[in-house]
Amino acid sequence: MATGKEIADLLHEMVDRDMAFMHICGTHEAAIARSGLRSLLPARLRIVMGPGCPVCITPQGEIDAALDLVEKDCIIATYGDLLRVPGSKGSMESCGGDIRVVQGVHKAVGIADKTDREVVFISVGFETTAPTVAATILAHPPENFSILSCHRIVPPAMKWLLEQGEAKLNGFMLPGHVCTIMGYEEYEQFPVPQVVAGFEPDDILLGLLMLVRQVKEGTHRVDNAYPRAVSREGNVKAKKVMYEVFEPFDVEWRGFPVIPGSGLRLKKEFEQYDAQKKFDIVFRQISKHSACICDKVLRGIAQPSDCKLFAKVCSPRTPVGPCMVSHEGACKIWHQYQLKKP
Ligand code: SF4
Repeated sequence: MATGKEIADLLHEMVDRDMAFMHICGTHEAAIARSGLRSLLPARLRIVMGPGCPVCITPQGEIDAALDLVEKDCIIATYGDLLRVPGSKGSMESCGGDIRVVQGVHKAVGIADKTDREVVFISVGFETTAPTVAATILAHPPENFSILSCHRIVPPAMKWLLEQGEAKLNGFMLPGHVCTIMGYEEYEQFPVPQVVAGFEPDDILLGLLMLVRQVKEGTHRVDNAYPRAVSREGNVKAKKVMYEVFEPFDVEWRGFPVIPGSGLRLKKEFEQYDAQKKFDIVFRQISKHSACICDKVLRGIAQPSDCKLFAKVCSPRTPVGPCMVSHEGACKIWHQYQLKKP
């Protein structure tokens, strides 16, 4: 197998036109930034960040819904990354409620086991995390436990991005973690070059090489540069469990309008665990009133350093938008590695 240096040299020989490939995974962005991989690439080859951070794409209305649950005296169990994400009326960190940081849904159930109060798990994540939550629901957690489902699924967002065409993409680097669960069969519907890539710099370079080859051949298919973890059909059991408990529905993403079939909500037979139904909570759409351009960063039409607040008003200590809060957020990653626009 060729080394990373050899692949980079090949890319320099092969890239003879402008090409832009979007990844949809915060872990890819972190690996690219940490390794300085962009500096090895031909100037005409761009890696564009997409909506690959599940915390970042959680819209203000869903953060507000979590705060509504605080007002109903629920204990909120959430991932640490969500704590400082701003809604329209503050964040979970600043709301003064009983907020518990947990590492996963099983810890939230553990809290419910030890109290008579209502415990709500703020359930964010792509297809990578939804099966674990589904398995927890199937195991019949206590009656005082419920989830606020903020899950999203990736392919409908890709469909939206391709239909809009504003990011002018030549193809996608598919999210390796999501594909571990889902496989890549469902991505074959998209008429653009795609590759499933792992997270080592050499994995990413190999993925880019496969994408460039497809562009130059004038073809499109899904190549797999991560066969040690991903198969075409994915984890069939995990997918079955996920769709036994959840069903797709139309939902807004931060920076995007409502995308048909892009969210996951609990099916009717599990509604006793649905915090929205249990506490009569609605997700409101909130208009943006800020100079933050997370919306554009998430749609792949701006980079963090295009934001006039980047590293000035907005930093990991004083985040203005979610992309500076989450460890998978593009702004936080760029701030950490002091990246500027190439
Ligand atoms: Fe938003 Fe801050 Fe990123 Fe600007 S730097 S886009 S304000 S998160």
